[in-house]
Amino acid sequence: MDKIIVIGAGPAGLMAAITAAKNGGTVLLFEKNAHPAKKLSISGTGQCNFTHDGDIAFFAQHYGEKGKIASRILKRFSNEDLINFFKDLGLEIYRREDGKYFPISMRSSDVIDCLLCTYDFLGGKLILNDPVISIEKKETIFLVSTEKKRYTANSVICATGGYTYPKTGSDGQFFSIIENLNHHIVPLGKGLSPIITQDEAILMLSGISFKNAGLLFRTKKGKQLNPRGELLITHRGFSGPLILDNSRYFEKGMKIYLNFTPFQDKEMLKKNMLDYSEKHGKKSLAAFFTDHTIPKRMVNTLFNMAKIDKDIPLSNLTAEDRKKLSKIFAEYPTTIQEMGSINNSMVTTGGIALSEIKLSTMESKIINALYFCGEMIDIDGDTGGYNIQMAFSTGFIAGLAASRRG
Ligand SMILES: Cc1cc2nc3c(=O)[nH]c(=O)nc-3n(C[C@H](O)[C@H](O)[C@H](O)COP(=O)(O)OP(=O)(O)OC[C@H]3O[C@@H](n4cnc5c(N)ncnc54)[C@H](O)[C@@H]3O)c2cc1C
Repeated sequence: MDKIIVIGAGPAGLMAAITAAKNGGTVLLFEKNAHPAKKLSISGTGQCNFTHDGDIAFFAQHYGEKGKIASRILKRFSNEDLINFFKDLGLEIYRREDGKYFPISMRSSDVIDCLLCTYDFLGGKLILNDPVISIEKKETIFLVSTEKKRYTANSVICATGGYTYPKTGSDGQFFSIIENLNHHIVPLGKGLSPIITQDEAILMLSGISFKNAGLLFRTKKGKQLNPRGELLITHRGFSGPLILDNSRYFEKGMKIYLNFTPFQDKEMLKKNMLDYSEKHGKKSLAAFFTDHTIPKRMVNTLFNMAKIDKDIPLSNLTAEDRKKLSKIFAEYPTTIQEMGSINNSMVTTGGIALSEIKLSTMESKIINALYFCGEMIDIDGDTGGYNIQMAFSTGFIAGLAASRRG
């Protein structure tokens, strides 16, 4: 009998398997693909941004409304713990100036090789090309069936990922197995997703990016959010961290408002226009915006939309036109025509209900000795290394707890 079976060889499953093996567990790891960690291999455009700097309080803010839960998990295995884990294994690490961590080679394959060599060294067994198709529990023993064979185990750790980028192997099929084990799945959605609009004038500006743009919208719970960040106009709509990180709150048909200026809102924009006009009244209206980091092409387009002459001097601007310009530049309305597809949404939102998981061990509250970790649970992070960190953190907690069951 194999004492601990781990299902899915992504970052969560590999960390769970390594931790369990390191702590004396006899471990068998199943992966449905011919190669492990396919999604990890393409993460960070193949460079693998596996975590981010910052203390736990700061770090936990990057999981939307699940910050408190993230903090409890990260206290057990933090970004610092992950960095030390890799350093101890001899992986050289690079911290970029924006706080993101990568392997120094900037190659995800080095992270994957490091994990696989470690697991192999610890005596763990890896079975590739063999998807798990069912799990049953008979008294204290699990019966785990793959397409080829049936196995038994004392503990099972599930780490099969979400449902986006299905070609990587995490295609969401495993969730029906979890439902058969009486667990609830919070409806799955597309996270870190771009948005698609049909605003032809904006689509003509494809390629323009903003270092510090703003966004205004209401969540389904009615909370008004006003985040800032990098924004990119694509040939289909909007992307960049500002959109991706907030996409967990978006849905088709929703209206959001974009602020292309460096000012917090339209009132601040109006005030700054007035102040600027006092000093530089002879400058054109357009100059105010180009002087405040807005690309000329964008300025021209928005003035055309507002039907205001961009070349008149600032001092001649009427209060009515100031109001009109502040609205179009700082509260530009966009209706989300469509979210990105499952093939370009980098994470899954929703997943196994957190209320059914003991966070101290990642063990099911419904079935003893069954554990969940990684993207399959109902928590998702921003861009910047927060998702891979969560996969490693929850994998570590599950692997340790399973090995301690004896
Ligand atoms: C393009 C892209 C770029 C990304 N970049 C980053 C980044 O830079 N930083 C970051 O933090 N996050 C990034 N992410 C997200 C991150 O890669 C995932 O959140 C992370 O890989 C989730 O880890 P996991 O182990 O939970 O699941 P996965 O990595 O999805 O692994 C699950 C594994 O389980 C296997 N599996 C599924 N079903 C079965 C079954 N029935 N039997 C056996 N095996 C099964 C799958 O084949 C897969 O190998 C990116 C994602 C994408 C798609």
